[in-house]
Amino acid sequence: MQPFIGITGNEMQINRVGDVSSFHINYSARHFSTAVEENGGTPFLIPITNNIKPSEFIDRLDGLLLVGGQDVTPYFYGEEPRKVLGQTSPERDTFEIALIQEAIKQKKPILAVCRGMQLVNVVLGGTLLQDIGEDPSITIQHVQQSLTQYATHSIHINPKSRLFNITGKPEDKKVKVNSFHHQVIKDLGNELIVSARSIDNVIEAVESANDDHDIIGVQWHPEYLTNSPYSSGNLFSDLIDRAKKQASA
Ligand code: MN
Repeated sequence: MQPFIGITGNEMQINRVGDVSSFHINYSARHFSTAVEENGGTPFLIPITNNIKPSEFIDRLDGLLLVGGQDVTPYFYGEEPRKVLGQTSPERDTFEIALIQEAIKQKKPILAVCRGMQLVNVVLGGTLLQDIGEDPSITIQHVQQSLTQYATHSIHINPKSRLFNITGKPEDKKVKVNSFHHQVIKDLGNELIVSARSIDNVIEAVESANDDHDIIGVQWHPEYLTNSPYSSGNLFSDLIDRAKKQASA
């Protein structure tokens, strides 16, 4: 059997103009399920739920893919919401925090993208900067105005990281990524190392510091760069490889 990869879902209310019908829907970007499928995994969209034990999902999964979306509710890292905060979903946060805790407990492989990486950091005791505008040392454009498939800023990869291998050991230790985030990691969570930074020192990737966890997190959106020469597609094949090992363990 192919590894079974859970993809976290988002929710949306659609009210059609001039129509009495409205829909409350679960969704995730198609690029994620496509990337899982193309790398030999079976994708499964996990809807936000309130009363199902996280183990009911995690027991069945071989890997967890945490995707982007709303800002993390600052309450979860001990802060009040400041004016710069974007939209949050405490309900989604609560659900995904429980999923992450259970996946960590079961040592299931995690690939955490954008908000997903930020939420993993919070689960492990870290904090976030509520908006990059609050730190004058952050000078490059992290909310890019270009299309999603264009890698716009460079990152420097820690040559001792797993990410360095995943991205094909670039000789100058640099790759380019896209960037659609207005929040960044402030204090790093426990048992994580920084595996990449942008030139203005923003944490662009993290990973497990030891074998107790199996987490790779990236701040950019590899789902839009799977065909780029920058090897972001390898993040998905790496997740599937890790999930296969997990499934056969
Ligand atoms: Mn960035």
